[in-house]
Amino acid sequence: MDIGTLFLGDYFAMRQHFIKLANDNGFLIESFENPHKGPNYKPVFMDFASAGSEDAKSLLVIISGTHGPEGYCGSAIQSGLLKSSKAKQWANKHKILFVHAHNPFGFAWDVRFNEDNVDLNRNYLDDFTNLPENLLYDEIKDWAVPQDLSEDGLNYSIKNLMNYARSNGFQKLQSALTAGQYSHPSGVYYGGNSPTWSHLILKNHIGKYAECIDNIVFIDIHTGLGDYGKCELISSLPNGTIGFEKLHKIWGDEVKSSATGDSVSAKLNGCLDIAMMKHLGENRTSFIAAEFGTIDPISVFRATQAATWLLNNDGLNTELGEMVRAQNRAAFYPNDLEWYNSVWHKAEEIISKAVDNL
Ligand SMILES: [Zn+2]
Repeated sequence: MDIGTLFLGDYFAMRQHFIKLANDNGFLIESFENPHKGPNYKPVFMDFASAGSEDAKSLLVIISGTHGPEGYCGSAIQSGLLKSSKAKQWANKHKILFVHAHNPFGFAWDVRFNEDNVDLNRNYLDDFTNLPENLLYDEIKDWAVPQDLSEDGLNYSIKNLMNYARSNGFQKLQSALTAGQYSHPSGVYYGGNSPTWSHLILKNHIGKYAECIDNIVFIDIHTGLGDYGKCELISSLPNGTIGFEKLHKIWGDEVKSSATGDSVSAKLNGCLDIAMMKHLGENRTSFIAAEFGTIDPISVFRATQAATWLLNNDGLNTELGEMVRAQNRAAFYPNDLEWYNSVWHKAEEIISKAVDNL
């Protein structure tokens, strides 16, 4: 298989390729149109593509695009599993479900957050009447998003954030910024104050794919944290819990907990993994986030900041917007055949391990 042909230039090309391969492999497709349009007023969708026998007792779910442009990588992996016929083979024994573009608006516009500036992986709270507090975010809120995208505006923000890191440690800055916050709707890593469109679609529809299933393994594909082309498997469950041990049984020491500070990720609020476990039953559900490293964290964060500024200032469809979108693609989706190869081979390995343990 020519790996390079899996990694395409925009959401629309990626989706078209995925849907064609899903159809060719006999997968059933269910599509949900997001109320907000993508570039050129084109509609964008969250798609579910599934296959497998009626009496299968195990279900593999692969999710792409929880964070907008991270969807290129996830979509390429989903298409690769179809193109290589692996998914079809696995569907002889198990149920296979691909959730394509969990955040289709962000994917199409190349921004991490969704149409409401919400980070989906902070939005899966089960109680929105009792929102988590992130007091550390309040300390850095004035610099978390720049006043404007001029060189001065960006430098002022980064300079202050770096000063904060120097005084308090990088880990505290990462936690302040990325743990998720629920009090600044135009800030970064905002978790929202109600379930988003994507949250509702996923929660309302995932259950029917899991009927009569005894064992479910989710793999949610992310990019942007960690060493270039390398993968870290992240769970928000603490080490030592039954759920974490189940993940450890599949992937061994590659699994890291964001709850206990072992991971490249900070401890997060409102994560999808815990929500899916609660929603579908903790005893039968395992969930891992596969995080593929791209470029350095400051550049990734600068791209994220700029994307948030654009969303807040209605700037997506402008010349400046084009530049920021390119910056975000470069941050979450390196245009590099070596990276594609590294990501694909690692993904194939970790997903095959999941199937072996279904
Ligand atoms: Zn992500």
